[in-house]
Amino acid sequence: MAWSAIKTEAIIMTSAPFREADRRYSALTRDFGKVVFTGRGARKGKAKLAAHLEPYAIVDLEIIRGRRSVTVISVERQHAFRSLMQDLDRRILTQASLSLIDKHLKEYDHDEILYHLVLDWMNFVDNQESIEKKQQVLLLGSFMLRLMQQLGYEVALADCIACKERIMPLAFRWHGGKGGLVCSDCVHKDGQEWFAARTIEEEAVKVLRFAREAAYEDIVSTNFERAHVEDFSRIVHDLMQYHLPMDTSTPFWRGLAV
Ligand SMILES: [Zn+2]
Repeated sequence: MAWSAIKTEAIIMTSAPFREADRRYSALTRDFGKVVFTGRGARKGKAKLAAHLEPYAIVDLEIIRGRRSVTVISVERQHAFRSLMQDLDRRILTQASLSLIDKHLKEYDHDEILYHLVLDWMNFVDNQESIEKKQQVLLLGSFMLRLMQQLGYEVALADCIACKERIMPLAFRWHGGKGGLVCSDCVHKDGQEWFAARTIEEEAVKVLRFAREAAYEDIVSTNFERAHVEDFSRIVHDLMQYHLPMDTSTPFWRGLAV
């Protein structure tokens, strides 16, 4: 890329100690996608720089790309997500999503829609008065579905993944690896191909559709049965295993107190 210094708005996703006195940061930027850079001396002395590079904030970031490394020149905190910083439940909700994005995004893959998807999510988690335990899994799953969709893994919930015909009530099966619902006709026509397709309840499909489309505010106020939320979370977990695998098979809701 032809730049030596860039200035952009960013959300710090992860940071880790790097070499003796530095820290290595990964940020989601509005204008350049994911950027990984080093904060020189961020572990000693330059306390102001390090403080502004803490997560759960929107920052104005200026970084420079040298021959061997990318380094931060200046950082100004533009907005801090206060309740996120202070509340463990909220941090867990956010950190799970940020780590996943960090892992699956290539550097300098600019995607402003993704940036705003993450920003909206963090704003919601930060502003919500309180989030009932039962709703946390539903919310995080909803974000994961949106994230997968934005990264190109759109789950087919309306039309059959094979013949593209509209899915009719009670006439479908589910295949996570192939990306969604398959109609009974297709399953009957090619039993071999759809061997692993499993039955899924109408209600679970409803929860999936709602979770992907509805505003987070509306998701918080739903009262789905616990069994359906559990089914929902298993389905989202399966989808993530196929499309956004992490190093472990730890379910995405691990750490959320449910
Ligand atoms: Zn079909």
